[in-house]
Parts: sequence; C-alpha cells; structure tokens
Amino acid sequence: MYGWNDLECSDLRELTELYLGGELLTETNHAVMRHLQRCASCRREVKVRSDLRSTLRAAFMGAHELDEPEGFADRLGSLLLVAVTFGASAAFAMPIGYQTSLMIFGPGGYRARDSVKMGPYWISCSLQSPCF
Ligand SMILES: [Zn+2]
Repeated sequence: MYGWNDLECSDLRELTELYLGGELLTETNHAVMRHLQRCASCRREVKVRSDLRSTLRAAFMGAHELDEPEGFADRLGSLLLVAVTFGASAAFAMPIGYQTSLMIFGPGGYRARDSVKMGPYWISCSLQSPCF
C-alpha cells in the first residue's frame, strides 16, 4: 500500500486509529513505524491518542453499570438458537435457500412463484416438527 518512505503526516493521522488497534497490514504498519521514527510531531500525536484509548478502556472496564444483566447470555443463547432453527427451516421455502433446491431449480423448470406456493407448506411443516 505505502512505499518505503512515502507516508506523509496527513496519511499517518488517518491511519493512527488502525495502527493503534493493530488492524494495519504488515507493510503499512512498517511504513507507519518508519514515519514515527523520523517525525516527532506524529509521535506525540500517536502517544496522545494511545493514552486516550488506554484511559477510555480503563474507564469502561471499571464501569460495572455497563455489565450485562444476570442470565443475559443464557437468554440470548436461547433466543439465538430459536432464531437460527426457524431461519434454517424457512430456508427450505426458498429456491436459493438450500443447495439441492438450487440444483434442481433450473432443470426441474421451477419458478420463483413455486416457492411462494410451497413456502407456507414448508413453514407449516417446520412449525409442527417439534411435535413429532
Ligand atoms: Zn509526521
């Protein structure tokens, strides 16, 4: 992305948050570090932002009012399981929802409206499946 020594101060200011978050590609990260070695102004800027990030992180970690309510993870897991189950079941109602449906869609001469006709049937079967 950036050449050996072609990173400008304005480039570095745009990349600082990604640099501090460890989200840059290795080559770009090296270009940032080379620029920081030769530019005191950008070193100060990065230091200030780094200190600010550390301060904010410490404040959030110490804020217990932001902790999740008791049992939140369990309830979320249950809801997610139900949503995935119904979503996966409803996928059969669409021609693109499942790979074998898609494979027979063209050779079988099916149309999208066939899924609309059969969709309620599949959804009905999916909703009744826990009863069996
Ligand atoms: Zn600079």
